[in-house]
Amino acid sequence: MRKLLLGLFLIALLPLACQRQLQQDATAYKKNVVHGVVLSDDYDVYLDQIIALQQKFPIENQQILRFPVKIHVVNPLLNSELRDEDFSEALNFLNSNFISSNIQFDFVKEGNDYIYSERNVDHFYKSANVEEFFTKKTYDENAINLYVFDDYKDVIGYTHYPVLNLNRIFISKVHLQDPAFVHEMGHFFGLLHTFEKEITQQSDVSDQNCGSNGDKICDTPPDPFGASFIEKDCSLFGEYHDKSGRDYRPNLNNFMSYYGSCRTQFSPQQQDLMYFIAKVIKHPKMRVRV
Ligand SMILES: [Zn+2]
Repeated sequence: MRKLLLGLFLIALLPLACQRQLQQDATAYKKNVVHGVVLSDDYDVYLDQIIALQQKFPIENQQILRFPVKIHVVNPLLNSELRDEDFSEALNFLNSNFISSNIQFDFVKEGNDYIYSERNVDHFYKSANVEEFFTKKTYDENAINLYVFDDYKDVIGYTHYPVLNLNRIFISKVHLQDPAFVHEMGHFFGLLHTFEKEITQQSDVSDQNCGSNGDKICDTPPDPFGASFIEKDCSLFGEYHDKSGRDYRPNLNNFMSYYGSCRTQFSPQQQDLMYFIAKVIKHPKMRVRV
């Protein structure tokens, strides 16, 4: 037990250490923003440390963790079609996909916030200053802050890895009830893409080093980045081989892939990692008020 407490104490210090280091360099800030960006060295190292602790102190009895969610509607003047019940449906959708991870979400009692800005998701994504300016006033540090946008150009949504401990998720309203939203929440709880690192280096399809290669999760098979697929029956279009000529056999159903509407599930090990991060890193910092 003492060992466990020491481990939890050490991991509680990790975000602080990383945060301080990152704040010294403003350009490092965006390196941790997720979506279509290469994994930063900071998070790579941090995640290795988290996984090592998780293996040492696995959480056996997973009671359901509840997280309050504060909605921020960006550009509500143009947003004539978004109704409160849309958010309820979005939350139900999220809860149905996270119940097997023992994580659930509730609205904060205070209700929604409105940010009057004509900027879209891309504007926030591309500028740390824009994000900071429009979020700092009403940011609720005891909740997950969900920013819903009327509009986007290329970026449908993004969030921050837990290294920064910024509890913010940004999503365009048309994606509130599709796998992209669940995917972002997966990143929020620390998961990498199933194709991570395949972008820059062709990985080995064999399962050796699965804990440190790719997404560092052993029950998600290696996934070639940018593979074509047939959405109707969720199968790969064409064949993809690693450098030794072995076939890639990715799971097209995994939420952390890019296989569109085929994405319907997290793997058991992804669920365990999210739960560990939710409990040890995220949850103690949020006052549960629901
Ligand atoms: Zn992503």
